[in-house]
Amino acid sequence: MSTVAALLAEARTLGMDRLDAQLLLAHVLGQSRSWLLANDDASLNADQLHRLRSFFKRRAGGEPLAYLVGEKEFHGLTLRVSPAVLVPRPDTETLVDWAIELMTPSSAVLDMGTGSGAVALALKHAHPQAQITALDASAPALAVARENGKRLRLEVEWLLSDWWQQLEGRRFDLIVSNPPYIAGDDAHLAALQHEPMQALTPGGDGLDSLRQIIAGARTHLSPGGWLLLEHGYDQAAAVADLLRQHRFQDVTTRHDLAGHTRCTGGRQS
Ligand code: GLN
Repeated sequence: MSTVAALLAEARTLGMDRLDAQLLLAHVLGQSRSWLLANDDASLNADQLHRLRSFFKRRAGGEPLAYLVGEKEFHGLTLRVSPAVLVPRPDTETLVDWAIELMTPSSAVLDMGTGSGAVALALKHAHPQAQITALDASAPALAVARENGKRLRLEVEWLLSDWWQQLEGRRFDLIVSNPPYIAGDDAHLAALQHEPMQALTPGGDGLDSLRQIIAGARTHLSPGGWLLLEHGYDQAAAVADLLRQHRFQDVTTRHDLAGHTRCTGGRQS
């Protein structure tokens, strides 16, 4: 019998995380996880069973759960995701919380490398009167972001731009970015192979995108405006140095939920 209970046991023998198995079952059945927990004797029809086993296999092969169910929760918003975008990480909520603290109701904010739109949309949700612009160099990623904005009824200006390319003459009160920052030879990349490499690593020492963003930020920030950057757990000192070299002041680093240094920012002097 293909009951929920039997399929959870089957997932265990595949070495799957129990929560992941429950979420895939709930997705295939079109039910919530709490319904599933109360109905472990419910059975799946042949079609559902086929879909579930294919999902189990893909998950066991390392595909992120978010791609299989097509969505991910981020900062209180449910975002649609596809393999065209990085799966939003809880680490990035550090960047969002910091930006929300610095914003005023009417701030003009730029999100660079928006991917699914996660950061831009969370900022617009927190400050509905703010003017948010978000860019990405990937047209398929920007389509996902735009669709999320429509569905959540959050208005953001979406720009297809390779970093500063399309921003001639534009200034913002706050610029935020979670750019690709993993070093090109980092062993972790193998585990992330289902996500867009372009969003994860700029190659080399991992700092090239951060360098480009920092180098261009001065001419795109209003006086006193802040630049906030997410970076790798071991890149805080390098990012702080780059900011100081470009005459940013009040350079500060914040930690993520796991206790790693994850964001560094500075204020335009
Ligand atoms: N934080 C992500 C990870 O380590 C990387 C995100 C990024 O490169 N911007 O999996």
